[in-house]
Amino acid sequence: SVQQLTGDRLPRYVRVNTLKTTVEDAVDYLKRDGFSYLGQASGPDDLPLKQKDFVRDQHLPELLVFSPRADFHDHFLYKAGHIILQDKASCLPAYLLNPPPGSHVIDACAAPGNKTSHLAAIMKNKGRLFAFDLDAKRLATMSTLLLRAGVTCQQLANQDFLKVDPDSLQYKDVEYILLDPSCSGSGMVCLRDSTSADQEKDQARLASLASFQLRCLNHGLRFPHLKRLVYSTCSVHSQENEEVITACLQQNPGFRLVPLLAQWPERGLEPLTQCLRASTTKTRTHGFFVALLEKHSEPGITKQ
Ligand code: SAM
Repeated sequence: SVQQLTGDRLPRYVRVNTLKTTVEDAVDYLKRDGFSYLGQASGPDDLPLKQKDFVRDQHLPELLVFSPRADFHDHFLYKAGHIILQDKASCLPAYLLNPPPGSHVIDACAAPGNKTSHLAAIMKNKGRLFAFDLDAKRLATMSTLLLRAGVTCQQLANQDFLKVDPDSLQYKDVEYILLDPSCSGSGMVCLRDSTSADQEKDQARLASLASFQLRCLNHGLRFPHLKRLVYSTCSVHSQENEEVITACLQQNPGFRLVPLLAQWPERGLEPLTQCLRASTTKTRTHGFFVALLEKHSEPGITKQ
């Protein structure tokens, strides 16, 4: 189908795992392996076309961009955990949350764990990374992935995030939360063909996902020392994105949106232009949405 073709034509994104190597070493290794490095991309359309060419991403410093035909599943760097195969849009949440080394962080819906391993890399494996997932099988996959990536600061739990007690002493120092809950997946290029003919059923599913997403958000904001929470979905539906954030802000006046990456070409739908969207056409990625919420001091009291 047409959409499948678009998906096949998305660049291959490779995130360098800085727990195991550096961008410079990975680039050198790839050059010795027959790839040609063309430097930093200058714009969203400055993408490598030849199978052996690659560039460094324009927005994300640890991301390398290859042609749609490049495949790293059997590559040494992948098997050794030096590189992670991760779409560019899905690298945004951890990059934007940016928890410092030593901080306490929650990854609320974590499996299979690409964002968890990205968080650990940003934290330089220092601090605590509590990762929850409801699905035991996905959590098992995640353990393997984190081991390969050299992640050591995690504490995995097969647990419903909505039942995690925000007032438990364990989480008293949690200042950062990454929330990437289950969504319709409507932004995933390969899934887009599967929209059912039953529109009523689709609407009911979206409404139930949105209510789950809002409950997760509200729950995350209850952690007493939270400073920042990043929310993301791989959905293109405003019901799961801007509408969830709008409802959450109405219910939690102590939080506000942080304006994200001024140079990013695709914004959240009006009026939530602080948020980011991503798409095959504008950002050469899967469809995606990211919002960053931060607590502001003393809600309702204006600073002198
Ligand atoms: N963040 C992951 C990554 O980057 O690899 C992908 C997460 S996926 C979009 C959503 C995950 O949420 C699924 O693995 C699902 O099992 C999990 N999940 C769904 N409901 C949950 C709940 N109530 N508590 C914890 N995890 C949940």
